Amino acid sequence: MPVLSDKQKEQVRKKINEQIHESEKELIILKEVTAAVAPDNSIGRISRMDAINNKSVNDAAYLNTRNRLKQLKNVIDKVDEDNFGNCVRCGHPIAFERILIMPEKRVCVNCSR
Ligand SMILES: [Zn+2]
Repeated sequence: MPVLSDKQKEQVRKKINEQIHESEKELIILKEVTAAVAPDNSIGRISRMDAINNKSVNDAAYLNTRNRLKQLKNVIDKVDEDNFGNCVRCGHPIAFERILIMPEKRVCVNCSR
């Protein structure tokens, strides 16, 4: 017996596609933001340090989003598997709300702690 009904699978697939689309848009923006830190002479020392700090935050966000996008694209093929919706660690069903919010995480709340 599949864990999710066809209707639920359809909902999950739709969510994954939405999130893939959002992540792709986000990546384009982050790529522009992380492209360059202005040279020394154009801004003061403090704001240059700010810019560098922001850059490392944005770089991390970029890597996170890129990673998530990869996971989302990977998980969309798994929705049809019968055990999709069960935690891959403990085997218990994952709350459907959680699947919709974080479809790329295949573990339940307890196991993700
Ligand atoms: Zn679990």
